[in-house]
Amino acid sequence: MANLGSNDQRVLTTLKKSNKPLSAYDILDRTRSAALKAPVQVYRALQKLEKRGLVHRVEALNAFVACCDDHHGLHRPGFVVCRDCGVAREFEDKRVARVAEDAAGPDFLIETISLEIYGRCAPCRAAA
Ligand SMILES: [Zn+2]
Ligand SMILES: [Zn+2]
Repeated sequence: MANLGSNDQRVLTTLKKSNKPLSAYDILDRTRSAALKAPVQVYRALQKLEKRGLVHRVEALNAFVACCDDHHGLHRPGFVVCRDCGVAREFEDKRVARVAEDAAGPDFLIETISLEIYGRCAPCRAAA
């Protein structure tokens, strides 16, 4: 990936290896190295990766996931998150934006739309 520093790469690789959202501190725990040792460095890398659509924030968890696709650029997906195992699945549906625009009304300038669906996945329900 062009123009990504080594810290950005490390953070992205760590997120790609995890199928669960990770907080900045989780990422730091897994990447700790001579070059990457302060939370602020992780946040800086996350900000850069988020701007490029390579990483998304799961708002309610205050955690981050790697995008499921390297190539679709900046976008704002929703997530289906299992409360038991923590796995987060990214999805995108243009209808969400339409519902949000209808709800907000024409005078409201929408900055962020976040749709996060919490529950239990099939394997976790089967194990219960
Ligand atoms: Zn994505
Ligand atoms: Zn689960």
